[in-house]
Amino acid sequence: MASYLIAFLLCVLVSNVVPWTLDYPSAQQVSSPHFNRGRSGHAIKAIVLHGTAGGGTVQWFLNPASKVSAHYVVEQDGRVVQMVSEDDTAWHAGVVTTNSQFYGQPNPNLWAIGIEFSRNINNDNDMPEVQIQAGLRLVSDILRRYGKLPRYTHDQISVGRICPGPKFPTSRFLAL
Ligand SMILES: [Zn+2]
Repeated sequence: MASYLIAFLLCVLVSNVVPWTLDYPSAQQVSSPHFNRGRSGHAIKAIVLHGTAGGGTVQWFLNPASKVSAHYVVEQDGRVVQMVSEDDTAWHAGVVTTNSQFYGQPNPNLWAIGIEFSRNINNDNDMPEVQIQAGLRLVSDILRRYGKLPRYTHDQISVGRICPGPKFPTSRFLAL
């Protein structure tokens, strides 16, 4: 029993210690423990845009109670934090409603890069232009590296969810 425990603790330790390289060099690196190594053979084929519905998201993605993460968090002041390697599966879009166009397909977390934009608790604030510009630069960089991936909003996957929410400039992200 003790050896199982030691093996488990070692796995937890190693999974948090294995270094990874920033995919977006302008980002600050803060590693979330909430991810699955690799993408189970799936290629990256989309970007999913989210609103955080409140602050403290980077800390929340570090909190073992949350069990959620995203590859990137774009703060209201334009800072970008990368929390999961794009090579790995982050936990941001795993609930697909039956009325979603993605229902019945592989879990979107396996084939998407998730980007969270810090917003107010209702996901309905006017977003600062500096934050939007930072997000556009990030998405442009991803598109440069992977080709013209489609960009989806989280509410296309979890239909009825207010994410990324009203006043999110979706059209500007689709225009890239
Ligand atoms: Zn979301």
